[in-house]
Amino acid sequence: MLGYIREILSEHNITLCGSLPLSSCRVIRPYLLEKHGIGPGGRVFVFAVPYLAPTGAKPNISAYAVPEDYHRFFTGLFDDILPRLREKFPGHRFAGFTDHSPIDERAAAAAAGLGCVGRHGLLITGPYSSYVFLGEIIADPDTAVGEDAVIPDVRNSALCENCNLCAAACPYGLSGGCLSAVTQKKGELSEDERNMIAKYGFAWGCDICQEVCPHTGAARSRGSIYTSIPYFLRALTPRLTRELVLSMSDEEFSKRAYSWRGRETILRNLELIEKSKPGTAGGTEKV
Ligand code: SF4
Ligand code: SF4
Repeated sequence: MLGYIREILSEHNITLCGSLPLSSCRVIRPYLLEKHGIGPGGRVFVFAVPYLAPTGAKPNISAYAVPEDYHRFFTGLFDDILPRLREKFPGHRFAGFTDHSPIDERAAAAAAGLGCVGRHGLLITGPYSSYVFLGEIIADPDTAVGEDAVIPDVRNSALCENCNLCAAACPYGLSGGCLSAVTQKKGELSEDERNMIAKYGFAWGCDICQEVCPHTGAARSRGSIYTSIPYFLRALTPRLTRELVLSMSDEEFSKRAYSWRGRETILRNLELIEKSKPGTAGGTEKV
């Protein structure tokens, strides 16, 4: 089964996939397993989807939000894969997940040999560093014994060297606070939060800990970091402006990962960044 799943994932330019028994995973949302009729004896096929697109201009939003919402990609992916699996393996139940998953995805991906969880809390893979989304297909009952094997050249449990560059660069020192969460907050922000957005210039999300990681630099140098998945290479919005946000139709805007907090949240963040620029009211001029 693992071989077949890898084969159909590779049709979508997804090459990092491993498998492990469900009993080896930390179940965090058991009700999702129950909903799909999956028992504790299932098998997890976990895979990493690279999403970083070469954009030229430095984005002012997190890279994951530059293309359209990745949840839409996964819906299309599972719509293709799950019916094919049900047809080929009629004695099994299958369910697909991303993000809102019954299991701890990062730990499962690391245990399946896709990479390791870095000091910044994200899965680091060799080819794409941490610029991946994780997804899982869970099959029940379990498949043949001996399917735990992963692609040998992706097994690397020593990717994070604890160099601490991510903690040193993080606006909150990896202490629990996160600028990404601040940019997504609706309504009134504290002065400190407003200053953080203005200082770091992210209108949505934050990629600082990912960018400073040496594995990101290495993957860029090797040229392996970028995705080749068409969905993540089209309709890119690397630099949001007030004009761009206001010009999107409601339908276009709803396809964006940053739409769930409404236009006003993004517009507020853009205004904070704009106001902090030298020469603008509220900005400081360096002389
Ligand atoms: S920056 Fe250093 S400590 Fe942080 S995740 Fe990367 S390798 Fe690990
Ligand atoms: S995303 Fe930004 S604020 Fe959040 S942990 Fe990483 S560096 Fe820190």
